[in-house]
Amino acid sequence: MFFPTLEQIATRVVISTQAEASVADTVTLMLAHDLRDIIVEPTEIRDYGIFTVSNLIDGGRGKGQENLTLGQIGYDPLPCARRHENVLQVFPKLRRGQEYLGVVDDNGELWGIVSYTDIVASIDPQVLIERQSVGEIFHKIIIKSATPNQPLIDVLAQLDTIDDAVIILEEGRIAGILTTKDAIRLFDRGIDLDRPVSSEMSSPVETIGKEVTIKEALDFIRNRRYKRIVVEDEGKLLGVITQRELVSIAYNRWVDLLRSHAKQLQEIVGMLEEKSAELEVLATTDNLTGIANRTKLQHALTQEISRIRRYATESLCVVLIDVDRFKRINDLYGHLEGDRVLKQLARLLEENTRETDLAGRWGGEEFMLLLPLTPLEHATRFSERLRKTIAETAFKVQDPITVSLGVAQYQPDESLEHLFQRADEALYRAKEGGRNRVEAADGD
Ligand code: GH3
Ligand code: MG
Ligand code: MG
Repeated sequence: MFFPTLEQIATRVVISTQAEASVADTVTLMLAHDLRDIIVEPTEIRDYGIFTVSNLIDGGRGKGQENLTLGQIGYDPLPCARRHENVLQVFPKLRRGQEYLGVVDDNGELWGIVSYTDIVASIDPQVLIERQSVGEIFHKIIIKSATPNQPLIDVLAQLDTIDDAVIILEEGRIAGILTTKDAIRLFDRGIDLDRPVSSEMSSPVETIGKEVTIKEALDFIRNRRYKRIVVEDEGKLLGVITQRELVSIAYNRWVDLLRSHAKQLQEIVGMLEEKSAELEVLATTDNLTGIANRTKLQHALTQEISRIRRYATESLCVVLIDVDRFKRINDLYGHLEGDRVLKQLARLLEENTRETDLAGRWGGEEFMLLLPLTPLEHATRFSERLRKTIAETAFKVQDPITVSLGVAQYQPDESLEHLFQRADEALYRAKEGGRNRVEAADGD
C-alpha cells in the first residue's frame, strides 16, 4: 500500500504569530484567516507552539486578558515530524485532540503543517483499524444506564433501537447489562416488570479496555456474536459501541482510501506495468545482438512442449547453430569485428525465419532456432537453405562466414536437456564432417 510522505500532503501556507503578540491581535489574525489554531514562532526558550481556542478559553478568563501576550496566557508545544517521513511513520506519534503536526525540514525549520484529518485520510484504513484504539473513536456518546434497584419497566423503556442496551451501574461500577434480547426473554416468560433490574440483568459484563484496537474489537464481537461491546477504563464505564458503528468506521475508512487513492493507485499500477514490461524485455534479450537470449529460448521451448503434449500430433524442432572457426575471425580482425559478425548473423537469422519461429543466441558464437509445427525433414531442409544463405552472404570481414547446424525433433516425453544434447551431438557431427554442414539427430 502506498503511503504519502508528509511533504506530499502538507500545507505550505502557514499563518503564524509571535509569543510576544497580544491575545487581541492574535484573535484578530485568527478571525481574518478563519483559523481555530495558530502556529507560534519559536522563542529563545521554546520551540514551535500552537495557540488554540482552548488556550484562549482556559487562559483568557477574567478581564484585561486582551493585553496579555500569548506567552503569558500560555500555549501548547507543536508536535513536529520531518518532511520526508511518511504518514505511516508519524501516525503512531499522533494523539487524539491534537489537530496539527508541524512538518520540519532537516534543519528543524518549519516547512509546512498537516492536520490530523489529512493524515488519517491518507493512511491505509486496514492499518488504521489495526492501530487505532476503540477509546480514540469515542466522541459524543450517550450512555444509557440505570441503577440495580430500578424497576425493569423503567429500564426497558430506555431501549429503543434493535441493538440498544442499558448498562447497570452500581456506585459507578459496571454491574450488569440489559439488552433488547433480554427484553424479549422477559416478555416471553411473563416476568413481573416491577422487579428490580438486578434480578434479570446479565452479569458480569464482558468488557474491553479503551486501548483495544478497532480490529481487535471487531474480532471480539465476531467471535462472541455480540451486537455491542462495553468499553471501560479501569472499571469505569466509558461507553458502549455497537457492531454497526465499528463496522461502519472500518468501512468508511476503506471507502475514503479507495476514493482518494484510486487515481494514485492507477498511476502506480501503470508505472509498475511499464517497468515490469521493460524488465521482462531486458531479462529475455541478448545484450549484444538484441535477439532472444538463452532464458527466453528455454522458456519458449518449455511452453511449446507443454502445448505439444496436449496436441500429440504436432512436431517441434530445434536447430543449434555454431559459427565455424570463429576464434580465427576474432584473431584476425579483433573482438569488435567479431561482435559485428555476430550481430549481422543474428539479423540474418531473424530475417530468414517465420513469424512463429524463434531465433535466439544460445551463448558465445552459438545460436538456436525454435521451429514449431515443423517435422525433422522440413527443419533439415530449412537448415540447409539457411546454411547456404549464410555462406553466400558478404559479412563485414573479408573471410567467408560459415556455420554448422545440428537439427533435432522433440520426442514425446523427452526432457529439454535430452533434446539439447541430441541437437548438440548432431552439431558435433556436422563439425566432424567438415563444417559448413547440417546434421539431423536420430531419435533414440
Ligand atoms: P569451431 O568451428 O570448432 O566452432 O571453431 P570456433 O573457433 O568457432 O570454436 P571455439 O569454441 O574454439 O571458439 C569460439 C570463439 O568464439 C571463442 C570466443 O572468443 C568467441 N566468442 C564467443 N563469444 C563471443 C562474443 O560475444 N564476441 C566475440 N567477438 N567473440 C566471441
Ligand atoms: Mg562454439
Ligand atoms: Mg564455433
